[in-house]
Amino acid sequence: MPKLVSAWRGLTEQPDVLLTNALLLNIALILLGWNRYKSMNTELGERRRSEEEARRLAQIDPLTDCYNRRSIAPAMAELLAEAESQGRALAVILVDLDNFKQVNDLNGHNTGDAVLTETSERMGDILPADALLARLGGDEFAAAVVYDPVMPGKIEHLASLLIERVAQPIVVKDTVIEITMSVGIASSVNLVEPADAEVSTRLIHKADIAMYQAKKQGKNRLFWFEPAMEQELRFRNELESGIRKGIAKGEFVPFYEQQIDLETGELVGFEMLARWLSPDMGIVGPDIFIPIAEEIGVVAEMSEKLMQQAFEDAKRWNPRLTLSVNISPVQMRDPWFAQKLLKLLLQHNFPPSRLDIEITESALHDNVGLVRSMITSLRNQGVKVSLDDFGTGYASLSQLRSLPFDRIKIDRSFIRELNTGEEGSNLVDAIISMGNGLKMPITAEGIENEVVLEMLRKMGGLKGQGYHYGRPEPADEVLTRLHNSGLLSGSETRTSDRLPRPIVGNRAV
Ligand code: C2E
Ligand code: CA
Ligand code: CA
Repeated sequence: MPKLVSAWRGLTEQPDVLLTNALLLNIALILLGWNRYKSMNTELGERRRSEEEARRLAQIDPLTDCYNRRSIAPAMAELLAEAESQGRALAVILVDLDNFKQVNDLNGHNTGDAVLTETSERMGDILPADALLARLGGDEFAAAVVYDPVMPGKIEHLASLLIERVAQPIVVKDTVIEITMSVGIASSVNLVEPADAEVSTRLIHKADIAMYQAKKQGKNRLFWFEPAMEQELRFRNELESGIRKGIAKGEFVPFYEQQIDLETGELVGFEMLARWLSPDMGIVGPDIFIPIAEEIGVVAEMSEKLMQQAFEDAKRWNPRLTLSVNISPVQMRDPWFAQKLLKLLLQHNFPPSRLDIEITESALHDNVGLVRSMITSLRNQGVKVSLDDFGTGYASLSQLRSLPFDRIKIDRSFIRELNTGEEGSNLVDAIISMGNGLKMPITAEGIENEVVLEMLRKMGGLKGQGYHYGRPEPADEVLTRLHNSGLLSGSETRTSDRLPRPIVGNRAV
């Protein structure tokens, strides 16, 4: 280098060309390296920044800026460890908005999002500064709050404040939305495990179970977690999966209850009542499984299968015998219900005039317009429609007058009153006159003894059913009954040797 410099300055002779080139190359390389180093540095910085942003986004719920389901657990573990070190406890307050789906369905998702944001803001305003708030997904939030374990009332008070605040009307683009919430609370008191993310997740799960209890007890309320709730939930989950499997395996079968013309004492038909022949629990009644089937969305499928079996069973009875089936309010919400039913009737070649659909009064509250058009189209096809459990569902008289039912069935709770003497009898009298006023024939359900039967018979013109005539029985026992009274369909009567033999076993339910 010094040689080269003195040569350039003219002090020495011309430098070696090779040496000059090597030097220039070196300088170029250094410049190039420096440039590359600089651009790599900026690139790395950018990458680090975007990674940080991604991590932040992964931890934050983008709609509400709260923690999300994944990030709340480790954050809660930290808070729990800190609380425990100070002899304090952690409460998880789990919130689920009631009927949020309706808000979305009626007002659109943008409004739904606005309600969620507002809810999280209102909760954030009320929660103490060191509390954590997460949106676990959908309309579910969890707050983690440190508190003094000897004062659980403070947490309950806080939860009540949250419920109150969120219940205040929310205005979104001129629409006023009122929403309630169900709340479950779980506490870290009695926890023996060290505070880690898994423990946090388990606390959230317990609060969730308590929240589910709040929903079940009518929503818009709060519950503390109790261990018994966990067992109940496990049982409920087993029931749910048992029902799903049972439908696939054909474990739901129709039983039949006789319906009698009280004046002549003649058998006029049967009401189909579903039974679950559960491999684990034996014969289970519909009061247990129908509400669950409704809730988990399988009642229509179950009912269709039962009806198909019932159509085939009833085809073996004398054709003047009718078949009544109960239809869940959930099925009534399906605008295609009448079409589906008619298709089934056609497939099984079952005459619509022999079918009677029973709808409970509570189904009328959902959407009277839809129910009315459904009743009309069923009746146009020749299917009869009865109002079941009459007197229990608060249907208004004007509603009843506007709905073209073929028959009303007085609920068995009123018939039971007949045992109490005059007062009960007056009530049934009044209901019967109302039916007469509406020009609808009447069936009395729940006739359990001769005394009640006699009283009803005197009232005149009624049909009836009840344990007095026997318990609901399976299809083969019905066939034996009909065989004995000569009421099988024509071909069955001639070939009575084709009758299945009654199965031995406890069938009374
Ligand atoms: P429901 O329609 O009111 O049916 C009559 C219920 O009263 C039946 O109970 C029957 O066993 C019972 N019962 C009949 N006679 C007497 C009596 O003299 N005394 C007393 N105490 N009870 C009597 P079950 O079979 O347990 O059915 C309960 C309810 O489940 C039915 O009430 C009906 O609403 C519903 N259900 C039954 N099968 C189905 C179905 O396939 N689909 C739907 N959606 N609901 C069904
Ligand atoms: Ca019924
Ligand atoms: Ca009934």
